[in-house]
Amino acid sequence: MMRLPRFHYYRPRDIREAALVLAGEENAMVIAGGTDLLPNMKRRQQTPRTLVALRHLDELKRVTNGSGLVIGAGVTLTDLVQDRGIKSAYRGLWQAAAQVATPHLRNMGTLGGNICLDTRCNYYDQNHEWRKAIDFCMKKDGAICWVSTGSKTCLATSSTDTAPALVSLGAEVELETAHGQRTIPLHELYRDDGIHYLTRSNEEILTRIILPDGAGTRSVYWKLRRRGSFDFPVLSVAAAIRFGAGGAVDEARIVLGAVASQPVLCDSASEFLNDRSLTDEVIEEAAALCARAAKPVKNTDFSPHWRKRAVARLAAYALQELRGDDMRATREKIARQAL
Ligand SMILES: Cc1cc2nc3c(=O)[nH]c(=O)nc-3n(C[C@H](O)[C@H](O)[C@H](O)COP(=O)(O)OP(=O)(O)OC[C@H]3O[C@@H](n4cnc5c(N)ncnc54)[C@H](O)[C@@H]3O)c2cc1C
Ligand code: SF4
Repeated sequence: MMRLPRFHYYRPRDIREAALVLAGEENAMVIAGGTDLLPNMKRRQQTPRTLVALRHLDELKRVTNGSGLVIGAGVTLTDLVQDRGIKSAYRGLWQAAAQVATPHLRNMGTLGGNICLDTRCNYYDQNHEWRKAIDFCMKKDGAICWVSTGSKTCLATSSTDTAPALVSLGAEVELETAHGQRTIPLHELYRDDGIHYLTRSNEEILTRIILPDGAGTRSVYWKLRRRGSFDFPVLSVAAAIRFGAGGAVDEARIVLGAVASQPVLCDSASEFLNDRSLTDEVIEEAAALCARAAKPVKNTDFSPHWRKRAVARLAAYALQELRGDDMRATREKIARQAL
């Protein structure tokens, strides 16, 4: 049985107190639902001396309407999936959240925790003894990357389902410290580095996710995983499109998940779609541009070569669904659930 290491548990009264503890403790981490962090601690992948709890803070659990939508970082994935407004106005986010893990994990897991989810790799997601037997790796306790021994950076994969969907929707995030707060586009929270995959400092708490008005924008999320019942993504495509009066694309944003250490914006495909109608030829061309942007490596399920080829197929399905095609049968085959 894997046991948790010893740690201090801090239950702050509010976000400010949580931020003060983080500022004063060198080796502290926040814990929300704990569905990723606690297993990681049992495997000694993450070894904080202090955990600062957020789960009980009501101020992080609110969903409020303004000109768009503001979602507290402590909102659980189950609450998000049960929100009818999100299901109709931000369909891609809803489809992403509905495919995270299992119902039990979604009951505990939060949107903030999903956005800040640790990166994954076959050589890292193992218990301590397994990793010790290969002399560990660069991401924790070792010196070398076993995926690419010449690599100077860790190539662990960004495996969050909601982040690509949120980036495609143009989400911003609010980060708070004991001394103030800042708001940044969500894609700026990430960097393509498997170890330092967030630009957030350890003192910053993700408090809110801000979505622009969803009216007039259609969005979808397609996920590929080994097991249909539940699994992390080995590839995902999030797409959001605003159509103009004549049915042509006014604005498009396509984002890939699980093909790098951060969500990958397919700018060339998004720009190509501007002012075009989604004909079969246009969809194929845009999907091929998406595949070109993906650089999967050999650190998760399925071969990188096959995953790169699959990007084009999945991107085409996403665009066909946005065009209004009935994709239910294909969805059922891939996602094994009605979405
Ligand atoms: C069997 C299994 C299957 C899973 N499948 C999937 C899957 O298919 N897709 C997927 O995306 N995830 C999956 N997960 C991972 C996890 O359950 C979810 O990502 C969940 O949303 C994490 O949220 P949490 O609140 O539990 O995060 P926690 O475990 O509490 O935290 C995760 C990380 O985020 C940080 N963090 C949390 N909240 C904040 C905040 N407000 N501000 C700053 N940092 C914060 C923590 O410090 C930690 O580093 C799976 C997990 C398990 C165990
Ligand atoms: S990509 Fe390399 S350094 Fe990163 S976790 Fe995997 S083996 Fe370790």
